[in-house]
Amino acid sequence: MTHDVWTAMDDRKMEFGGGAPVESETPYRHWKRRRDDNDVEWIILDKADSRVNVLSAEVLMELLNLLEEVADARPRGLVLRSGKPKGFTVGADVSEFKGMTSLAEVENKVRRAHAVADMLDKFPAVTAAVIHGMCLGGGLELSLCCDHRIALPDAALGFPEVKLGLHPGMGGTFRSVRLIDPVDAMTMMLTGKNKTARQALKSGLVDAVVEERHVAAAVRAALSDELKNKRRGMKGAAMNTGPMRRMAANKMRTKTREKADPDHYPAPYALIDLWEAHGGDPKAMQKAEIASFSNLLIGDTAQNLVRLFFLRDKMKGLGYGDPAILHVHVIGAGAMGGDIAAWCAYKGFQTTLFDVDLNALGGAVARAASLFGKKCDTDAEARDALDRLIPDPTGDGVPRADLVIEAVPENHDLKVKIYGETEPRMKAGAILATNTSSIRLETLRESLRRPDRFVGLHFFNPVAKMHLVEVVDHDGAAEDALAAARAFVVAIDRLPAPVRSAPGFLVNRALMPYLLEALLMMDEGIAPETIDRAAEDFGMPMGPIILADKVGLGICVDVAGVLRDSLDEPIPDIPDWVNQKVEDGHLGEKSEKGLYVYEDGKPKKNPEAPDPDPETADRLILPMVNACVRLLREGVTDDPEIVDGAMVFGTGFAPFRGGPVQYAQKRGVAEVRETLSRLADRHGERFQPDEGWDRLEGGS
Ligand code: NAD
Repeated sequence: MTHDVWTAMDDRKMEFGGGAPVESETPYRHWKRRRDDNDVEWIILDKADSRVNVLSAEVLMELLNLLEEVADARPRGLVLRSGKPKGFTVGADVSEFKGMTSLAEVENKVRRAHAVADMLDKFPAVTAAVIHGMCLGGGLELSLCCDHRIALPDAALGFPEVKLGLHPGMGGTFRSVRLIDPVDAMTMMLTGKNKTARQALKSGLVDAVVEERHVAAAVRAALSDELKNKRRGMKGAAMNTGPMRRMAANKMRTKTREKADPDHYPAPYALIDLWEAHGGDPKAMQKAEIASFSNLLIGDTAQNLVRLFFLRDKMKGLGYGDPAILHVHVIGAGAMGGDIAAWCAYKGFQTTLFDVDLNALGGAVARAASLFGKKCDTDAEARDALDRLIPDPTGDGVPRADLVIEAVPENHDLKVKIYGETEPRMKAGAILATNTSSIRLETLRESLRRPDRFVGLHFFNPVAKMHLVEVVDHDGAAEDALAAARAFVVAIDRLPAPVRSAPGFLVNRALMPYLLEALLMMDEGIAPETIDRAAEDFGMPMGPIILADKVGLGICVDVAGVLRDSLDEPIPDIPDWVNQKVEDGHLGEKSEKGLYVYEDGKPKKNPEAPDPDPETADRLILPMVNACVRLLREGVTDDPEIVDGAMVFGTGFAPFRGGPVQYAQKRGVAEVRETLSRLADRHGERFQPDEGWDRLEGGS
C-alpha cells in the first residue's frame, strides 16, 4: 500500500495550497508534487522508510530531477515543504559520512549536493520554504536557497554540524552570512545552537511566522513578493569589508578557543578562516566551503564524532520498548537519590522519595525545584514536575511502585537490611534496583526472595549532567527485568551501558588507575597543575586532580580500597598524605580544601607550574586504556563500542578521540603495548599490558 502524503497532510490539516493534484504519483520515492489553483507547484519531502526527513544522496538526486521537471512546467512559484509531522528535515544523512577517507570522493559528493542547492537557488520562479519542527543542517541550507522562508511557531532552525566536527557543507556558510547579520550567522554555525521561530524572524532568517491555517495566505503573499524581511541592514553590509571581518574573526577565534582546542576541534576555526577570507565573495566562499568541508569530513575528529553519534543511537537502541514503569520509588534522598528522583519526576514519572532524615528530603525537594526552574520552559511545566515528586517520609510509595531505586550510603549491611524491609512490601513483578558504585550485586541479592527482579542502576554524579547509566547484571537477574531497566534508562533520556557485576563495574574500574596515577605523580613532587594540564591537553574535560577533588577524596579512597581488596591486579597504595587529608576532612571542592585549595569555589592554581613532559599524558591515559582492555577480556562487557560509549558519555573521555579503545586502535595497538611495557619497566608492574591486547591486536 502506498503512503498517501496528501491524505496524511489533510488529516493533520497541513496546508498545501488546495486544488487537485496534477500527479498523485511521481516517479520519485521521496518526493511528492502538486500544482495548486494559483499555478504554484508544491514539492513535498517525505523520505521513504523513515520517520524523519534526512537528505541522503538519493533524496538530493531525486530533488535535482524533480526541479528540472518542475521548471519545464513553468509554474508561477515553487513551495518546498515536508510531509513528516516531526518537522522539515533534520539534515544530512550522517550514515553517509561514516568511514569516508578519500578526499576526491568526498569532494565529488559535496559538489553534487551543491549543484542541487544551486539549482533551487536559481529556480526560474519565486520560491518559498514552509518550515515546521526541526529544520537543521542541510535542511536549513536548502531553505536558504529559497527566496522566502515561512515558519510555523514550532520551527527550530540551526546548524548542528559543529557537533560532528564539521561546518555547513551545502552552501550554508555563504548563504547564511549573505541573508542575515554575518556575526549572527557565524554564531549559529560556531555554537550549533538552534533558533526558535520567533528568534529566526527577529534575525531575518525567516520572513514570517504563521499558524498552519495561514500558511496558504503567507505563501501567496511571499510569491507576490509582499513578504520581505529586511532585518540585515547596515551591519551586514559593513561586514562585507575585509578589515571589519578580520576584527570580528579575531574576536570569534578568541571566544572559540575558550571552548575548543584548535588541534582537537578544527571545524570552528576552519569556518572562521573561510568567512574571514571570502565573506564578501559568495562564489569564492562556496568553492572554499567545498574544500574545507571535505577536508574536515575525512579527518579523525569528524570521523570519531560521527562514530559517537551512532554509538549514542546504538546505546539508545539497547533500551528499546516500553519499560512498563509508571511509578518510581527512591530510597535515600542524599546527593544521588535526591537527584535521581528529581530527574525521574522531570521526565514525567510519578516519583515518591523516602529518607530517614527529613532534612535530606527537604534538601532534595529544594534542589529539584531549582532544577525544574532551570530546565522547564514554563512555570506550569516546572509546577507539574514538582507535583510528580512526592516526599514520602512513611514509605507509602513502595507498594505502588513499579521500580524501587535504593540510594542509601555505600554500606553492604545497611542495604541488605533495607531490602529485607522493602521487598516484602513491593508489588509482584516490580523491580528493585541499587545505585551502588562498588558493591557486588551477588553479595547484595543473597537474602532476596526475588533475586531475578534485582538489578543495578548505576547513575553518575551530577545526575542531571551525566548521560550514562550502567545497567548492572548479576548471575540471578531475569532478562526481562534487565530489559525493562534499560528501557527505563532510555525513557528518562539517559544512555544505558549494560555491564556485568564486577568490582567498580566499567567506568569506575577504568577511571581509578587514572586517578591513582595522578596521586602517585603528586607524591613524586609533580605539580597538580602540570598533571591536570597533561590530561587537558590530551582532551579530557578536566584533569584527574581536579576531578578527584570534585568526586571527593573520601569516595576515591573508598573505591580504590574496594578495588584493591577484590581484584587480583597490582593496585598501588594511596599515599599516606592523601589518607591524612581524608581524616582531616579535607575532601575536595565541597570542603574548600583537598588536593587544591579553593576560594569562592575555584581552585587556586600556580600559574608558574612547569609544562608536562611528553610521558605524563601516557602515564595517565594508558593505564585507563589498559583497564578497558582488561574489562573486555574479563567480559564486564564484550563490546568495545560500549566501553568507548560508556567512557565518553560517563567520564567525558576526549570525544574527538572516539573513546579509549578507538584511541588505542588509531594510535596502534602494538605501539600502545610497547609504551605500556616501557612504563612498566620504569614505574612499576601496574603498567604491565593486559593479555587482552592480544585480541585487539590486528583488530580494527
Ligand atoms: P549520601 O550520603 O549523600 O545519601 C544517602 C542518603 O541515604 C542520606 O540522605 C541518608 O539520610 C539516607 N539514608 C541512610 N539510611 C537510610 C535508611 N535506612 N533509609 C532511607 N534512607 C537512608 O550518599 P550518596 O552519595 O547519595 O550515595 C548513595 C549511593 O549512591 C551509594 O551507594 C553510593 O555508592 C552511590 N553512588 C554515589 C555517587 C556519588 O558521586 N556520590 C555516584 C554514584 C553512585
